[in-house]
This record gives sequence, structure tokens and C-alpha cells, in this order.
Amino acid sequence: MLELIMTLSDTTTAAARPDADPRGPRLRSALEDLIVLPGDAEWDLARMPWNLAVDQRPVAVARPPTAEDVVEIVRAATAAGLRVAPQSTGHAAAALADTGLADTVVVSLARLRGVTVDPVSRTARVLGGSHWNDVLEATAPHGLTAPHGSAGDVSVAGYSLSGGLSFYARTHGLAVNFVRAVQIVTADGVLVRASAEENADLFWAVRGGSGAFGVVVSLEIDLLPYADVYAGMLLWDAAHAPEVARAWAAWTATAPESATTTLRILNLPPLPELPPFLSGRSVVVIDGAVLETDETAMAALAPLRELAPEIDTFARIPAAGLVAVHMDPPQPTPAVTAHAVLDELPDAAVEAFLRAGSDRALFMTELRHIGGAVARPAAAGGAVSALRGQFVCHAVTMVPVPEAAAGADASVRAAVAHFEPWHIDVLALTFVDGGGADRRLGYGKAAGRLSELKRRFDPGAVFSAAQPVH
Ligand SMILES: Cc1cc2nc3c(=O)[nH]c(=O)nc-3n(C[C@H](O)[C@H](O)[C@H](O)COP(=O)(O)OP(=O)(O)OC[C@H]3O[C@@H](n4cnc5c(N)ncnc54)[C@H](O)[C@@H]3O)c2cc1C
Repeated sequence: MLELIMTLSDTTTAAARPDADPRGPRLRSALEDLIVLPGDAEWDLARMPWNLAVDQRPVAVARPPTAEDVVEIVRAATAAGLRVAPQSTGHAAAALADTGLADTVVVSLARLRGVTVDPVSRTARVLGGSHWNDVLEATAPHGLTAPHGSAGDVSVAGYSLSGGLSFYARTHGLAVNFVRAVQIVTADGVLVRASAEENADLFWAVRGGSGAFGVVVSLEIDLLPYADVYAGMLLWDAAHAPEVARAWAAWTATAPESATTTLRILNLPPLPELPPFLSGRSVVVIDGAVLETDETAMAALAPLRELAPEIDTFARIPAAGLVAVHMDPPQPTPAVTAHAVLDELPDAAVEAFLRAGSDRALFMTELRHIGGAVARPAAAGGAVSALRGQFVCHAVTMVPVPEAAAGADASVRAAVAHFEPWHIDVLALTFVDGGGADRRLGYGKAAGRLSELKRRFDPGAVFSAAQPVH
């Protein structure tokens, strides 16, 4: 994967490079080795996001190890007339690239990681660039867990502050409602705490508005009291996709809110990293968690198990193991995705899923069951606290070489278009992956107040974000 982005770069000196910005030297004298500029030896690695399909070319990449350094960077960037884009991992780099980075300093939070757990209050303090894996490692010894998504190397800040859909979601709602406070560097270069009691308007805005309101250097989050969970996956050959998809759709109509699952058709490439029985195969998979006793969970899953899966890993597992159940790529990957939110899944929509999944150019066609607590706004929630709808349809394909990007984009859009009759005017912000999506559909009724608060807290539009607020 590394070769992909390296082929996009060259080795000319900073001054001669077409992407070197004349404001770079000014930043260097203010920030010295806190920043990396075009032409520096580390430039290509520093600018490389998790999504390797995105060739990020900002003015500079800043890599602060402390909150105080973030303050210095925001002040120096704004003094040089530049914008600032917080980035923890670059999972949403395609959405950020959509905003254009020609006048922007990317602030990579990769060096600002760490987690402290308070088992008594069942909360954690998480530094701004921390990944969910960092949180799970710290919470597991206390018999606690957190509302992480399907990939452990996604950041807590980027995921939670744009909503965050976990396998706990139908019981416990969106991850954003677990955020109790943030420490954030605002557009005027000041580090403030925002919570229900302090800077309450900013706290409301950042819970949904995310990086459009500042660089979050730490978060305080609630934890979940699960040491273990009943979770796993069922897998069949894709030849069984019609019966499995129909059964899952019928099952979700009465599934308890304690069950959060997904249905996927995966077209797995012939890779040596995959076990031989999966390499190069198309399979249909149901996975997720059922937050019940073993007996109740087994009874809930019985109608799906009756379809005799080839693999059945559902069992009681340590809660930290839930992050591996979805089998997301464990390393940076070049990918293109698209999604839509659906209110229902009638028979015709199940047929649409099967049609979409039969495109072997797609790596994955997925339906995530939402509803339940996901759809219920939180009492003291922020700009985003719920997501309307019953299912998220989501398509992903890989981009092995840059020339494949346009075709890959067309494939994922075509997959989502199959579901068009059931699309509703809603977007799940964490699933927006560029492509000119109208983010107001992710903010819903909060969009107006969010825009007003953007003008108040960031009047010069300093912050550029994967999910912008205008
Ligand atoms: C393999 C994979 C699996 C995923 N699984 C799920 C899932 O199960 N559920 C789900 O809901 N989503 C999921 N996502 C989507 C993911 O939650 C979003 O892409 C999320 O925005 C990634 O956050 P990040 O910080 O890791 O990425 P980045 O690209 O680094 O950040 C995305 C945006 O978040 C903001 N941000 C990040 N860090 C900070 C910070 N410290 N301060 C201020 N703003 C910040 C910025 O606005 C930034 O543009 C998945 C994505 C991938 C690629």
C-alpha cells in the first residue's frame, strides 16, 4: 500500500516543488520541528492518511505531542493566513480532501495518544488522537468497555464527535452521547474546556460539528459496564445470499433492541493474508452483538443459525474482542465508499441488496441495522444525538492504483443507487466519504444553529473538517 502513495510523490527540494507554499518558511520559523513541509524527508509519510486512496497535499503537516503545541500551531497557522484541519488517523481523508487543502495546515494528532480510566465514575479521559484500541486496552482490566465502531484504529474523537455507530448502538444510542466534556483549541488559539457546565454552546456544537469547531486535545467519555458480550459472526458462501438476506431482513423486524447486527456480501480478493478457505471467495456474513444472557442471546439468534452457516463464531467473548468481529482491514487501505440511510427493508429492497452485492467489483455491500436507541435524541444531547432510519446501506471498494478511483467511485454509487426508492433525507456523518455529499442531511434540524455557532466560534472559517459546517 505504501508504494501507492510513494508513486504519487517526488523528491525535488522544497523550494522547487509545485506543492511548496511560500508561507511554509514562516511556519517553520515559528514552529520548527513541530511541522513537516514539502521537501522534508518525512513529508510523504507525514501527509499519508489511513485511506491510501487519498493523495493529501496540504501546505504543511503539524505533529503536536502536547496540547500546548496545538495552541502554538493554531496561532502560527492563523497568523500566516492559513486554515487548520484536525486529523487523527485519516480514515475520513476523502471527505476532508473534498474541502480542498491548498490553504490548510493538517494537524495530525497521531502523537497525542493516551487513556486514563476512572473505574469508580466509569469514565475515561482520552487524549485527542487516541484510537479505540487504546481505550479498550485501558478499560478491559476494569471490566469496562466503550461504544467503539467496527475498526479499532479509528480515533475516538473523529468517530464520536460525528455520531459513532457501534454494535452497542441499538441499546445505548450513538457514541456522541457518551462524550461528557472536551478540551479544545478554538479558532482564536485558546485552549478551553467545554461541557454541560462550561462553554455549553461550544459543547453542543462540537458534539456533531466535530473538527469544524477546533482541535480536540482530549475528551472525557462515559464507559459501558460490560466485561464480556455475546457476539460473533455467521458466514455462508454467497450462493446462500438470497435465503440469508431474506431471513435477516425478516428477523430484524422483530429483533430486540439488545441486538445490533449487520448483513454483508463480501467479495474477498485472492490474498495470501486471508485464510485459504476465504481467499478469493464471495461470502455472505451476519455479525454483531446481542447484549443478553447466553440463553436469551441464543434464543434470539436461533432463526439465523437454523440456516446452517459454514462458520458460526457467536459466543460469549471478552468485550474488547468485539472490535475484531467485523474483520475490518487492520492496516491503512485505499478505499472508496458510499452510503445512504433507509427507513425500511421490504422484499424489493432485499432484492436490491442482492443485486448490489452481486457486483464482484465491490469489496463489500452492507446493511447495518440501526433504529432502537440510535433514533432517540438524547435528553441533553448536542447537535447530533440521534440518527433517524432503520438501516444504513454501505458499499466499499478498494482502489489498488490511482487510475482505478473513478471506476471504484462509480461502483459504490451504483450499489447505493439500487436502494434509492427507500433512501430518506438523512446521512450518517461518520459514513460520509466525500463525493460532494450534502452534510446538512447529517445535521438535520441542528444545521441552522450549528451554522450560527460556527460564525460565532470560528468567524474566519479557520477550521476545515471532513464534515464541514458553513
Ligand atoms: C475501516 C473503517 C471502519 C469504520 N467503522 C465505523 C463504524 O463501525 N461506525 C462508525 O460510525 N463509523 C465507522 N467508520 C467511519 C469513521 O468513524 C469516520 O471515518 C471517522 O470520522 C474517523 O475518525 P478518525 O479521526 O479516525 O479519522 P480522521 O480522518 O482523522 O478524522 C475525521 C474528522 O474527524 C475530526 N477529527 C478527528 N480527530 C479530531 C480531533 N482530535 N479534534 C477535532 N476534530 C477531529 C476532523 O473533523 C476530521 O476531519 C469506519 C471507517 C473505516 C475506514
